[in-house]
Amino acid sequence: MARFLAQEIIRSKRDGATLSDEEIAFFVQGITDESVSEGQIAALAMAVFFNDLNLDERTALTLAMRDSGDTLNWSAAKLNGPVVDKHSTGGVGDVVSLMMAPMIAACGGYVPMISGRGLGHTGGTLDKLESIPGFNMYPSPDQLRHIVKNVGCAIIGQTGNLAPADRRFYATRDITATVESVALITASILSKKLAEGLDSLVMDVKVGNGAFMPTYEQSQALAQSIVDVANKAGCRTTALLTDMNEVLASSAGNAVEVAEAVRFLRNEQVNPRLKAITMALSAELLVSSGLASTREEAEHSLQTVLDNGKAAERFDHMVIAQGGPDDFCNTYKNHLVRAAIIKPLIAPQTGVINHVDTRAVGVAVINLGGGRRLAADKINHRVGFDEILPLGSRVDSQTPLVTIHAESEESWDRAAEDYLAAIQISEDIPQERETVYETVSYDDSPSYT
Ligand code: URA
Repeated sequence: MARFLAQEIIRSKRDGATLSDEEIAFFVQGITDESVSEGQIAALAMAVFFNDLNLDERTALTLAMRDSGDTLNWSAAKLNGPVVDKHSTGGVGDVVSLMMAPMIAACGGYVPMISGRGLGHTGGTLDKLESIPGFNMYPSPDQLRHIVKNVGCAIIGQTGNLAPADRRFYATRDITATVESVALITASILSKKLAEGLDSLVMDVKVGNGAFMPTYEQSQALAQSIVDVANKAGCRTTALLTDMNEVLASSAGNAVEVAEAVRFLRNEQVNPRLKAITMALSAELLVSSGLASTREEAEHSLQTVLDNGKAAERFDHMVIAQGGPDDFCNTYKNHLVRAAIIKPLIAPQTGVINHVDTRAVGVAVINLGGGRRLAADKINHRVGFDEILPLGSRVDSQTPLVTIHAESEESWDRAAEDYLAAIQISEDIPQERETVYETVSYDDSPSYT
């Protein structure tokens, strides 16, 4: 590799120049082998924060970080369908992955889904799956290949050597106020996703008061950037902007969300917003990967695998293959641990639920013990909220707003206080919102070049 000086690369970006692919690869190599210091990483991150990266630079950074560690290659597995995945910017009650992976597998896709833990106020798919006794989040690469080939889907955690440059880069961004750069978020998310060796990806970029990005425009910019970079890197990718102005599912927590996912797959409890977003993302992926030719055909296939039990069956097979109990969809109530106190919170007044501070509901889950304050915290999988009434529900002083799962009366009381503070009940009817705002496709001449 050509020799450069890290400080000269930082200087170029500080002064607004465009970095070459070689300069970016050199810097990323230095992040990985630690020949670049934390101070230099911070300085480059700040320079990018102010002076941005164009599409070529974003793509070069993504690919260099992807290639800093292990990547999955599916050619030897001789799969008879595309390798696909979904990624979400995160939300509260966002349990879509648990249904979507087996639904897509039942429709002919192969889904090696590498998921994360909860971040800030948002829940994490890995934390939720840990509620299932014995579920192994870290199969070996050979086991993963075997599970994906035979079951069609696996949901696993990020192993030590997946995009290691991103891990070090992100840790420095996190403590230097440089996370909020669309260019850097794009490269961070995609370096990990593209390491899965995907043919197609669909991104779920959340919008609203529970979303990671603070405004609609910034969610849009992130969606466009991810779509452009991923396509330029050879992975067919589209993004949906979806609503996060209330909890997505009827539950928020860990075991409670797994239970809801199982009931969804069994057609026993189907929250309409959760279904709309799960179907929209899944249909988008079936079309972009060539498994369906139109959205209508895709939706028909997805509904069929829900109705005939094939999606639930794939979920069961995945649970068994990853070390969990047999026949989980039938027996989940015996396996999912329950909190000591489970009781409803009754509405304090008559009116309509006209606002939910979704982030505050996520924080209330953390206060119950269901999320982390510090990265090293252990979480309690039993606690959380379920039977959450949606926005727009009319209530009176007999109506249960939500059922709280807590480990003690004090914790239940605190959660009740948090929950009541997070919602507003009045006579004003909330404005109707879309569940899916827009679909973002590839733009090969974007405005940030
Ligand atoms: N999630 C990531 O993986 N990276 C970011 O930079 C932000 C959110």
